Amino acid sequence: MEYGFETTCVHGNYKAAQTETQVPSIAQSTTYRYYNTDDMAAMFDLSSATHMYTRISNPNVQQLEEKMALLEGGVAATAAASGQSASTICLLGMLSQGDHILSSTSIYGGSNNLIGVSLQKLGIAHTFVDPDLPYEELLKAARPNTKVLWAETLANPALSILDFEKWSRLANALEVPLVVDNTLATPYFCRPLEHGAHMVIHSTTKYCDGHGTSVGGIVVDGGTFDWGKNPGKYPGLTQPDDSYHGLVFTEAFGPAAFAVKMRGQVLRDYGCVMAPMNAWLTVLGLQTLHLRMARHAENAQKLAEYLESSPLVEWVNYPGLKGNPYYALQQRYLPKGASGVLTFGVKGGFENGRKFIENLKLTSFVIHVGDIRTSVLHPASTTHRQLSPQAQLAAGIKPEQIRVSAGLESIEDIIADFEAALRIATT
Ligand SMILES: *Cc1c(COP(=O)(O)O)cnc(C)c1O
Repeated sequence: MEYGFETTCVHGNYKAAQTETQVPSIAQSTTYRYYNTDDMAAMFDLSSATHMYTRISNPNVQQLEEKMALLEGGVAATAAASGQSASTICLLGMLSQGDHILSSTSIYGGSNNLIGVSLQKLGIAHTFVDPDLPYEELLKAARPNTKVLWAETLANPALSILDFEKWSRLANALEVPLVVDNTLATPYFCRPLEHGAHMVIHSTTKYCDGHGTSVGGIVVDGGTFDWGKNPGKYPGLTQPDDSYHGLVFTEAFGPAAFAVKMRGQVLRDYGCVMAPMNAWLTVLGLQTLHLRMARHAENAQKLAEYLESSPLVEWVNYPGLKGNPYYALQQRYLPKGASGVLTFGVKGGFENGRKFIENLKLTSFVIHVGDIRTSVLHPASTTHRQLSPQAQLAAGIKPEQIRVSAGLESIEDIIADFEAALRIATT
């Protein structure tokens, strides 16, 4: 990063030429005109990196990719239609039938379904492990065909924090990439590539956009994983690709091989591409990421402290609270703050939790986190309802749990809204 984090948020990679639009223009076009057949042919050979068709690349999507690669400290990035499709292009880019994923149990419900159900159907196996198990136990859960480790920096919604030292040591011992979903932490609080992760995933739908306008996702490639170290282990990266006249991705693209593979093959074939307008809105959102994240965390911290002191609340989970089991890891890996999401249990259990949600006036009941507006959700009956009660508990979901995404309103107003709804819910 040439400039500081804040400057990169504001300007990123975009600099208008003389008389060009100061705000990036929207390239709302499916296609790009050519006059020379050799130039077009070069696009099909991946020997040119300009634009040809929006399913492969687009100027606004490219701006977002370059900006996120800068913010996360990666070599390149590939955007996709949603966080789910970012996870999908990442895993399908590196895995084949017969491979195995070793994943933390403490992950987003959609990732759990993707790995546990949909990829399983394609013949890609998995094991879910408690991320806090000792190193030796985690190592035992690996198999000879384990090809990737999967975890979240600040898990949604368990709010556990990844022990990067242990998990990156595991990745290095197994010689597989460590993929970390950094959606809730954002690069403002934590940059996983600096702690040994090889790839970073975001649902840009959440804090990157930040205003609830656009579903999107991205994979940032750290460029540090050595695909060729074990010949035959990642044939899609290291062996000739028939769909590109025998091109070998690692030879042609060096450290950015995986980012190009996700675009040139997985996006090309599966088509889950981000729309130009969504990329434009997400770039706009990133311009204030540094300001928003600082305030999200400040409000979440104050709300967590208020809830902890309330006699109407059973428990509060926020890694920024001193008594939290992940406080030490928060201080180590997210020293600027614990981001904007917290969970708590209303006294009296499931029914009072529902009453609480229905009596909020300012706060929104929505399937969303990372918005400027304070939002609440009941995971057990919504995002994680597909999981068995045991799998819910393994993912850190309790029946009475309320997930809160602290917004950017006046903290006094947020607390007053919670206080009034808690009173009604518990009487
Ligand atoms: C929301 C979310 C996803 C999925 O993203 P979509 O944009 O909804 O597809 C993945 N991981 C985490 C941690 C999320 O919060």
